[in-house]
Formats: sequence, structure tokens, C-alpha cells
Amino acid sequence: MKSNPCPCKSKKPFQACCEPLLMREKIATTPSKLMRSRYSAYALGGYGDYLLETWLPSSAMGLSAADLSVRSLTWVDLTVLNKSQQGESGFVEFRAAYLDESGQRTTHHEKSTFSRVKGRWFYVGEES
Ligand SMILES: [Zn+2]
Repeated sequence: MKSNPCPCKSKKPFQACCEPLLMREKIATTPSKLMRSRYSAYALGGYGDYLLETWLPSSAMGLSAADLSVRSLTWVDLTVLNKSQQGESGFVEFRAAYLDESGQRTTHHEKSTFSRVKGRWFYVGEES
């Protein structure tokens, strides 16, 4: 069995990290696991349904699964800087790197907030 490193840079095999979440075999038990799986969904492309399902509907800004399936950027790295969870809410601060149209490495820094509804974690959005 071949083992591919997970796109989320956890150094774990994809099959033991984000794949079971993307395949809906498991649900994310913490905000950071959900955040990692969403990063992998963006990095791989084609997982728009998953991105939409894990986004709090009221904050998904009318995006469609088709929009979210487009792999528009080449994501190359992910570093989780900080994370915390209190009751039904949590946040993850991370730095993600991608290559822009000209191949230039660019960094995206975000503090994402997450909410747990009926036992499932959802991405709420970027903290302003
Ligand atoms: Zn992963």
C-alpha cells in the first residue's frame, strides 16, 4: 500500500489524516482537525461539497460547491501557529503558503473561528 504524505503537512499519511474526513468516514473532533482537512480540500481541489458542508451555512457567502471545487491556487505549506477551544467555539491561527499566478510564494495568515453545532465543527470565518 502506498502512503502519500497528507497535503496539510502534518507529516502523517493522507489515509491516516485528512482523507477519512474528506471521504466522510470520520468527523473532525477538534477545530484544528477541521481546519487541516479544509486546507487539504483546497490544496487538492474537487472537494467543494466538503468545504460547503463544513462551513456554517449563514457565513458561506453564497458560494457553491462548484465554486469551491476549483483548485485556483497551488497551496504549498501550512503552519498552525495557535489554537484554542472553549466549549462550543474555537479558533485556529495559521499561516498558509501558496504560489501565485507568477509562481511567487505568498503567505496567507488567518485566525479562523469555528463553532460546534450538534456535535459537528463548522468553519465560521476569518476573525476580523
Ligand atoms: Zn492532513
